[in-house]
Amino acid sequence: MTRKRLSLFGSTGSIGRRTLDVARDYPDDFAIVALSAGRNTRLLHEQIREFKPQAAAIAEPSLAAEAEAIARDTGVPVYCGAEGLLRLAREFAGDMAVMATVGFAGLFPSLAALESGADLALANKEVLVTAGDLVTARAKELGRQILPIDSEHNAIFQCLDGMRAEGVRRLILTASGGPFRRATVSQLAQVTREQALAHPTWEMGQKITIDSSTLMNKGFEAIEAHHLFCVPMEQIDVVIHPQSTVHSMVEFIDGSILAQLGRTDMYLPIQNILFHPQRRANSLAPLDFTALRVLEFEPPDLERFPCLTLAYDASRVGGTMPAVLNAANEVAVARFLHNEIRYLDIPALIRAVLDEHQNTPNPSLDDIRLADEWARQRARNHGI
Ligand code: MG
Repeated sequence: MTRKRLSLFGSTGSIGRRTLDVARDYPDDFAIVALSAGRNTRLLHEQIREFKPQAAAIAEPSLAAEAEAIARDTGVPVYCGAEGLLRLAREFAGDMAVMATVGFAGLFPSLAALESGADLALANKEVLVTAGDLVTARAKELGRQILPIDSEHNAIFQCLDGMRAEGVRRLILTASGGPFRRATVSQLAQVTREQALAHPTWEMGQKITIDSSTLMNKGFEAIEAHHLFCVPMEQIDVVIHPQSTVHSMVEFIDGSILAQLGRTDMYLPIQNILFHPQRRANSLAPLDFTALRVLEFEPPDLERFPCLTLAYDASRVGGTMPAVLNAANEVAVARFLHNEIRYLDIPALIRAVLDEHQNTPNPSLDDIRLADEWARQRARNHGI
């Protein structure tokens, strides 16, 4: 039997590590042909020793000496910087590229992997948020699939039995609500970095944890769902569901609703996509309904969590607005994590940058890149 050749971008992050857990559990099904990390060279080195890929890359350009040292030790070529990542995506994407990187930087290797003939297993949100029209159109032209690993989109993907979106009335994305679901505006004004980094249900990287607490993450997910499933933003709703057990739902035109439930473990959606369209048994403990007792649902409060509205508005305007939304958010979150701005300055800063942006409709990749650079610059220098 031939093994599916997987390339994994962002192998040292939480999704990357969980992807390697799946690959480790099914050694007859998957071969890891490429691994890339941002800056965690120690873990990447261990992963290269264990999985013996054909090539690897370190995204952080200042780590060229470390890349060389790992290559000498393992005999595996290790490229460095954005160019190195692109080379990995062009030459070693395999049958499926798992994109588990964070941020706008994931866009270019994603496109390169599609161009080289790989399907894209997508966990990086920013790819479809910033360039959803371009990337989905290109995948279609190339006859390649974009398969969602993010738990919400994977849930919808399962409810739609793949991508068959006929007869859909609404997509309903569930959101845990984050750590500040019950916080008042004056409490939100005092939120510290440490409080924002403590997520109640999901264990994730810092940037996405902050995005979850502001609900920007859910705004991004709505934009992604719009591109993945070709459903207008008006037909994508968000509901707060603190238990994170229902991972998302699809409502059909006859009023039937299909939901996907499961444990809050990314192993499940990753395994689902890596094996798609097959299902395979695993050793995870099943969901225990007697321990669950209640599943709660409530509407999101758009007054306290304006990031959700900012995302819907940017997507409706389209053009370069979603790329600006993303860039301004990346900078705002980084500034908050560096204690430069306060928690409620995050949406204020994003709104200010969006308001100043001169939108470009039907943008090219270069237009998107320029809008991204402009928005970063503006968000860095904005004296909120
Ligand atoms: Mg999610």
